Amino acid sequence: MIPEIDIRGSIAQKKTEGSLSFSYEADETLLDIPFVKFAGPVRAELTYRIFDDLTVEVRGTISFVLEGACSRCLADASEEIVYEAEGFFARGEDDGETYGYTNGKVLLEEFLRDSLMFALPSRLLCKACEQWENE
Ligand SMILES: [Zn+2]
Repeated sequence: MIPEIDIRGSIAQKKTEGSLSFSYEADETLLDIPFVKFAGPVRAELTYRIFDDLTVEVRGTISFVLEGACSRCLADASEEIVYEAEGFFARGEDDGETYGYTNGKVLLEEFLRDSLMFALPSRLLCKACEQWENE
């Protein structure tokens, strides 16, 4: 379940920062390594800060585990990935650099989707192949 940030409510309570901790099911279609899948939900640990101009900064980590077949030798492999995510939200429409938000509420879906795409590796290696590649 992905929470939303209630900017209007926060401002009303004179609260300009907060943290969010939640997990959600990843969109499997973002992952295109053959024979690899998400081993469980994606975990997000985020903090947010609301600035005077009502721009919102969101940062933190998303983490998840991939499991499946090694991209080199097809042996069982798994890897935990922790990614530092950061995004800015401004009132109105998306403008390419910042995400937009309307009705005083920041929705995190698109930001999380983009962060997950950046976080995903292009392949998964088992321990032996990882070692072999690093030699
Ligand atoms: Zn391997």
